Amino acid sequence: MQAVNLRIFRLAYWLVRLRWFAILGIVVAYFTAINFLHITIWTLPVYIIIAFLIFLNLISFSLLKFLQRSNIKKSLRIVNLIINFQISTDLIVLTFLLHYSGGVENPFIVYYIFHMIIGSIILSTIESLLQTSLALILVGAMTFLEYTGILKHYPLEGFIITNMYNNLTYLICTGLIFVTTSYFVVYITKTIILEARKHELAYLEANLKLKQKEKIKNEYVMRITHDIKGHITAIQSCINTLHNKISGPLNVQQEDFVNRAHSRLGILNKFISDLLNLTQRKLQQKQDKKYFDLKQTIEESMKITENYAIEKEISLTKKIDTSINEIYGEQSSIEEVLINLLINAIKYSPSGKNVTITAEDAGEAVLIEVIDNGIGIPEGETGLIFNDFYRASNAKNITNDGTGLGLAITKHIIESHGGKIWVNSKPDKGTTFSLLLKKGK
Ligand code: ADP
Repeated sequence: MQAVNLRIFRLAYWLVRLRWFAILGIVVAYFTAINFLHITIWTLPVYIIIAFLIFLNLISFSLLKFLQRSNIKKSLRIVNLIINFQISTDLIVLTFLLHYSGGVENPFIVYYIFHMIIGSIILSTIESLLQTSLALILVGAMTFLEYTGILKHYPLEGFIITNMYNNLTYLICTGLIFVTTSYFVVYITKTIILEARKHELAYLEANLKLKQKEKIKNEYVMRITHDIKGHITAIQSCINTLHNKISGPLNVQQEDFVNRAHSRLGILNKFISDLLNLTQRKLQQKQDKKYFDLKQTIEESMKITENYAIEKEISLTKKIDTSINEIYGEQSSIEEVLINLLINAIKYSPSGKNVTITAEDAGEAVLIEVIDNGIGIPEGETGLIFNDFYRASNAKNITNDGTGLGLAITKHIIESHGGKIWVNSKPDKGTTFSLLLKKGK
């Protein structure tokens, strides 16, 4: 339903834009005809028509904006009425323009066809047939009234040499061609549009089903991981008792087994926690966003990762623009992103290297970068590292301490904040993760 609503507004705005082009076209055609082709055209009606079109377009545009903002229930019907009114008015205006510039003799008569195509794209079949019939009635009436002399004929002096508006054979033949072409154009355009719409609906339906399946899958994963996590926590507390020798001393073999179980449980726990975190985030509808101090959050995430850096003998530095202060978002999630990136930078750097976090003003946004001179990412794998569970080949070689979910969580958080994340990396030279975060809502 939302897609349909958006579509009708999009088409209505498209029509407004087309009319600006039409107005420009009339102005250019008129001045070219007068000044370069030296054709005689009665000026006043053209000026009035241009002014009327500008006025109408401004009104239509403002009305559409108003309807889009106000959640009026009947707004779709009103937009449809505006479109119908716009197209009918355009047909009447075109007839007036033609009448004052040669009538049926003016080659611009073919421009009715554009209206028929536009009408067939935007309107229902009945409405587009009615608009086409209106166009034919208008042309027919103009031709008849000029032919019978009821209306004055304004010849295009200097352009059309012989009078055709009073040549009955010409009028009948042109009329027949015009009527058949018009309905045929509507038929062809409508067939193409209906076919395209069928595909669009099928695509929307498939997309919806896919989303529903994804939701069911996520709910399923969340339930399982949640249950497993409960059991792991219970096992971990028992193993910890043994590991910390609270229940008494262990012999060498027992200690070896307990140490291995303790380490594997740690990895399993991290994996389940990351999976639960990512799934919960995918299912989460709302976030707790507010303005928070970004500089303070960067410093906090550095404090949290500081011990790990010291342990690995890596120096952690920051370069934050003095202008950086508040941004809009979920503070805890952004902090989680920064911690993820800092931990990765430390984890995938050999001892003695540097890790730097920078934040600079980028107008409406803030650019944050986490730079390391670590192992880098092999060529051809940078595009994959944000996928769930993906770990690059060189990372797997140096440590099995990783779930391949950290960057998937990071990307999800950044995108749910309307931001962007990307990576630049050279194997054995280092990696830079860049984040662009909007400052405001
Ligand atoms: P992991 O738990 O394996 O670190 P992530 O999702 O955080 O999972 O990262 C996915 C993969 O991206 C990592 O396994 C590693 O191959 C690569 N990666 C992430 N950060 C870096 C980095 N700073 N330097 C080199 N490789 C990195």
